[in-house]
Formats: sequence, structure tokens, C-alpha cells
Amino acid sequence: MFEEIKKKYQEMFGNEKLPYLKCTRCGHSFYYPRDYCPKCRSRELEVRESRGVGSVFSMTKFRDRDNKEIYYGIVELEEGFRMYANFIVPVEIGDMVRVKFLGKESKVPFFEKI
Ligand SMILES: [Zn+2]
Repeated sequence: MFEEIKKKYQEMFGNEKLPYLKCTRCGHSFYYPRDYCPKCRSRELEVRESRGVGSVFSMTKFRDRDNKEIYYGIVELEEGFRMYANFIVPVEIGDMVRVKFLGKESKVPFFEKI
């Protein structure tokens, strides 16, 4: 089950789609791949596709080795789950953002301001 979920996530990332998990028992939505619901422990989960639109819940910036600014934080998606995310540009808490996949072979979700 866990392998299936991870495989589905990879496929969706490859097609530039943002997956999330929805528990069909209690309705809880979450992002990080697991094979049980963190809220009710049910294994009745569905992988769904998010619209990839949400708002910035928290944001921090730091500098990498090359002194380049990196923006990182948490996005709260419309479907009701939160995920850690990289931002393409600096954002503020409450800003609306949309997912954008970067990278050629392994696609990584970033967020840009709408
Ligand atoms: Zn549940």
C-alpha cells in the first residue's frame, strides 16, 4: 500500500500534478505519503489531485552556500492540507500562491505568487 502511494505520487509529480491523501473514513486531508490516516489511523485512503492553489501559512528565508536567498515555508492548500514548500519569489503570510514544478527529470513542487 505504501509503495503504491509513493509510486502514484511520483507519477503525478512527473505529470506536474500535486497529489495529496484523503481519508475516506474521517475526511482528513494530508500531504506526506503515509499508509494510514494520522487522525483516525484508518487505512482507507485515496490519492487525489490538488488544484495546487493555496495561501502562505509561514515563510522564512535563508542564504545558501552561494549566498543566494532561498524562500521556504508552509502552504495551506484549498483542499485543507498543509505542506512544506519552496517559494520562487519572496512571499508574505496570507499571499495566494500556485504550484509550479521545476526540474527536468525529478520534478519538484515550488510555489509562485498568483
Ligand atoms: Zn481518517
